Formats: sequence, structure tokens, C-alpha cells
Amino acid sequence: MAAAANAAGASDVGLVRSNNEDAYAIADDIWVVADGLGGHAGGEVASGLAVQGAVRALTEDGADLVAAVTAAHDLIIETSREHPELAGMGTTLVLAQRDADGRVRIANVGDSRAYLLADDELVQLTVDDNHAQELVDRGELTPEQARVHPGQYWISKALGLGDRDAPSPTITELPTTRGRLLLCTDGLNSELTDTQIGELLAEGDSAQACEALVAAALLSGGGDNVTVVAVDL
Ligand code: CA
Repeated sequence: MAAAANAAGASDVGLVRSNNEDAYAIADDIWVVADGLGGHAGGEVASGLAVQGAVRALTEDGADLVAAVTAAHDLIIETSREHPELAGMGTTLVLAQRDADGRVRIANVGDSRAYLLADDELVQLTVDDNHAQELVDRGELTPEQARVHPGQYWISKALGLGDRDAPSPTITELPTTRGRLLLCTDGLNSELTDTQIGELLAEGDSAQACEALVAAALLSGGGDNVTVVAVDL
């Protein structure tokens, strides 16, 4: 559990997995969640590097969101080369940054999500880069069917994975400068419906909302690592 002013995060290994391959970070006006992929220790190394690399690029190098995603990707690729046992590791990344005018932009690669709760309405801000979403786009699945469809595990875009070129993130600007922002790994939204997520995200302060969301994901089965970051904008 970490908290900084108006933001909090929580992460849990869940009830099935033996290690937690998720990572998150909260910095000044920067919030990040990553979900690692890869055998051995690869997944947790990749998600940790992505979070660290993205925050460093934004805070120390003055990078924009796209450059920060590239920096995170490059850090994973470099580390894979130095440590062949980690070859092929990768990660999702959902990265949010608030600028001096209060506008929040999100960069997304993979199937970790950003949601906004404003005026009692939960809106999913990101679109998953996975096969289940492609089937939704083609009208072959409803979003509710996609939530339990095996295509959710076939991720079409990620950082690392041995690719030399950084994947281009999808950039989304929030429609408003207020509300409660949620970043999460799929361990949350594969266990809970959007209606449940919206109700739990509204609970108490941002730290209490994080606790409530993680507890509900565990109660629902905890089949995956679950990580959330909640921010009061
Ligand atoms: Ca996951």
C-alpha cells in the first residue's frame, strides 16, 4: 500500500499464482500500472522495469508519454540482452500524467485498463490490446462475454517480448479534469464487472477504494495478480 496526497495503490498476488508479476508507481502527477509476462522471473522484472523506466523518462528526461513508453520498452530490451535468462519478457503498461493545466492523458499498451468515475458514472478510458477486444470490435462478442473469453489472454501489443521496435501506445485525453481515476491490471476486471468496479471505486478515500477493489477481486476468486491505483483528480 502506498499513498501520496490524493492517490493510492494496492497490489496482491491473488489466491492462485505463486508470484506477483504486477507493478505500480505513484509519483507527482504520474500514475503507472504494469502487468508482466514471461517465464521464470521475467514477468516481474519486466513490469518493474517498465514502471521505473517510464517514471524516470517523464520526471528526469522531460519525455512525453510516447517517449516514456519507448524508454520503458528499450530498458526491457537492454536488460533482456544482458540477462539471457530473461529473454522474451514483456509487460503491459498503462501510464497517466497530469499536466500543469490539470489535463490528464493516458498512454496504454496491452490489456491493463484506465477507468474514470465522474458524476456517479464509470467510463472505461482505454481499449484492450487483445484478441477478445478484437472480437468485440467485430461484433462477435459483447464486452460482458469478452470478460470471460479466453481471447482476453492473447495480448496483441506489449512492451519488450524481444521486439526491437517499441509498440506505439494509444493516447487518450480525459474528457474532464475531475473525478476518480482508476488504473488496474486484468486481475481486477476479469474478476469484477464494471458495475462492481464502479461501486467499489466510489468507496471512501482513494486508499479505501483500492482496498475494497482488491478485497473484492480476491473474494471473487483471485485467479490472477491484482493491482489498482486510484487517484482523486
Ligand atoms: Ca494479469
